[in-house]
Amino acid sequence: MIIVLDIDAATEELERDLHDRGYVVHILKGDDHILLYVMGDTTELESRALNAYDGVKNVLRTKDPYRYVNRSLFADRPLRIGKKPFSEMKPFIIAGPCAVESREQIVKIAEKVASAGAHALRGGAFKPRTSPHAFQGLEREGLMHLRKAADAFDLFAVSEIMDKEDLPFFEEHVDIIQVGARNMQNHDLLKALGKAKKPILLKRGFANTVEEWLLSAEYLIMHGNRDVILCERGIRTFDSATRHTLDLNGMLYAKQITELPVIVDPSHAAGDYRLVEGLSKASIAAGADGLMIEVHNNPFQAFSDGAQSLKPKRFEKLMKAIAVYTE
Ligand code: PEP
Ligand code: MN
Repeated sequence: MIIVLDIDAATEELERDLHDRGYVVHILKGDDHILLYVMGDTTELESRALNAYDGVKNVLRTKDPYRYVNRSLFADRPLRIGKKPFSEMKPFIIAGPCAVESREQIVKIAEKVASAGAHALRGGAFKPRTSPHAFQGLEREGLMHLRKAADAFDLFAVSEIMDKEDLPFFEEHVDIIQVGARNMQNHDLLKALGKAKKPILLKRGFANTVEEWLLSAEYLIMHGNRDVILCERGIRTFDSATRHTLDLNGMLYAKQITELPVIVDPSHAAGDYRLVEGLSKASIAAGADGLMIEVHNNPFQAFSDGAQSLKPKRFEKLMKAIAVYTE
């Protein structure tokens, strides 16, 4: 890390504090500035806090703020979903309704997505709805319907957790535990999921930077769970033409920093089923490790996110369309 100070700044206090914290500091005096080159693990140092010292003009990080996500984590123990190596299932396709609405609904959709070639069945049972008046999910009963439907068609089950108290139930009944965009920075939840015995699908918050997203993954790994899959799902921008804006830059940028798999959810990004196939092709062509797609047998009647849900036939078409990029 390099700290840039005014030429007449008193550096003693800053130097002493850095030494006390175990850092080695080299000083360079130029014509206009003083530079402090700070050596050691600077991930714990907050740039903002350093700005409080007298005369500090700028703080430049020369290293990533990560200790885990930028390492090779899977060399000795490749990521597995259930018993299957993740690498053998790329692109990993998760498909299913926004929410589990009934046993019949999830079974019907499971059959369709399985026959089209999906690996995993999604379905929210605990729904993080913007309005408290909207359908909140079938909760534990819904999760059991999801599990049974997934098992019937040899699919993995993926569902979103909102409360750490539900973790034992999720560990028992799903194969991948999803953290939704709204909970990406729920650090208490992340710490609890660090102890989970199942892989975590960490969605990016729609108002979060890539760095914040990766630092949330860092929480999971630091607290014991390195089985993390990242999911870009669109961010909020000035343009309200679509629900969100799919940030393929962010997906690719994340992939440059980490070896964790990064998948894309074009359904929540677009909010419109007509854009989902194109965004899926773009994501896979660009190198995403998988997709999460909302599929509903009757989108018009869906309890949530019908406008962005594909009918099974369209999902089948999408699967054929992306195969071109992976052969
Ligand atoms: C979801 O996948 O069901 C969901 C609510 O998505 P997000 O958290 O990305 O909004
Ligand atoms: Mn949804």
